[in-house]
Amino acid sequence: MENSCSAPLHPQAIDGLRLFNQRKYFEAHEALEDAWRDETGPIRELYRGILQVAVAYLHITRGNYDGAVKVHGRSLKWLQDWPDVCRGIEVGKFKRDVEGVMNIVFTLGRDKIQEFNPSLFHKIEWNEKRIWICDRCGTEMHEKNCKVSCPNCGNRFDCSDLNIYFD
Ligand SMILES: [Zn+2]
Repeated sequence: MENSCSAPLHPQAIDGLRLFNQRKYFEAHEALEDAWRDETGPIRELYRGILQVAVAYLHITRGNYDGAVKVHGRSLKWLQDWPDVCRGIEVGKFKRDVEGVMNIVFTLGRDKIQEFNPSLFHKIEWNEKRIWICDRCGTEMHEKNCKVSCPNCGNRFDCSDLNIYFD
């Protein structure tokens, strides 16, 4: 599985991670499912594991204890064998965060799951090699220290202007 970890992430998987971090768990699950379906290599199982966590979190937000426990249980199999960092995703940290959330869920139990505080959901951390395409001329842009510029037409911006995607 180590060998599967050096390639870039599937674009739909990136969307899924962003949606996950916005706590849009239903939409995250859909995007990750697209990546899972489209991908033929073993990495698809990592996408599947993360999408099942998204579904478990969705169940938690809806007060569905049994659903959350069941889907979380399924996700363990798909998440267990990956190294701590895979395709830039901090898988090890993610697994510890999920375990922490589920420990709270188990403690609350079926009767008190509605009391789960959504601020306890963690974000997934990942680093990706970002590719910028100039919106004026379609050329691939250069990035240095967050300054992005187009070698063709001179269009430029600061990547911090885009942190709507990375919050
Ligand atoms: Zn340009």
